[in-house]
Amino acid sequence: MKNESILKKEFQKKDVERLRNLMKGKYGEKTRSSVGFSKADKHYEEGDVWKSDGRTWTIKDGIKQNITKLDKAKKTHIMPLLCPKCSKLMKRVDKPYYNTSKHCLNCHAKFEDQLKKEGKYEEHYNKINDKIIDKRIEEFKVFVEEKLRESNDSFISENGEVEKWIGKLDKDRVMEYVELVSDKLNTFKS
Ligand SMILES: [Zn+2]
Repeated sequence: MKNESILKKEFQKKDVERLRNLMKGKYGEKTRSSVGFSKADKHYEEGDVWKSDGRTWTIKDGIKQNITKLDKAKKTHIMPLLCPKCSKLMKRVDKPYYNTSKHCLNCHAKFEDQLKKEGKYEEHYNKINDKIIDKRIEEFKVFVEEKLRESNDSFISENGEVEKWIGKLDKDRVMEYVELVSDKLNTFKS
């Protein structure tokens, strides 16, 4: 753990709010009501579904994305009937354990007991936490890069896409902010 008291002092309320959204994966939160996409003379908003370039698109949390991508994300959370490890029937309570560890609650309890016995319990969860933070940073960077790209060619795009940004983006300042957020998230690592 890094020095927590310094970290807390540096943190302002708005940073905490931003990070909270970030950790929840709600990058589009602030722009939700102000972002829309237009194709030719059509305007699309949150929840709309339409076909374009042979793919099906929607806007979720203010972000334009194609449906197949969303479907894939959903499928990874479908739980099989039986636990892959002990082959017992899985129930609702097993769901969070299956989502994160691909086995049932009972198997997870055994797994944690073993970790504790080996003195690796804390190490194991620190590693998971670090991985989650890495993933969030990566997702955030990709999100910002996509946004920057969209806003850059929005007005001249051959797809006829228009994104309604309020004001103009200063790319350097955005990247500076991305680095700042990444650095702060990194300080949460073990
Ligand atoms: Zn099991």
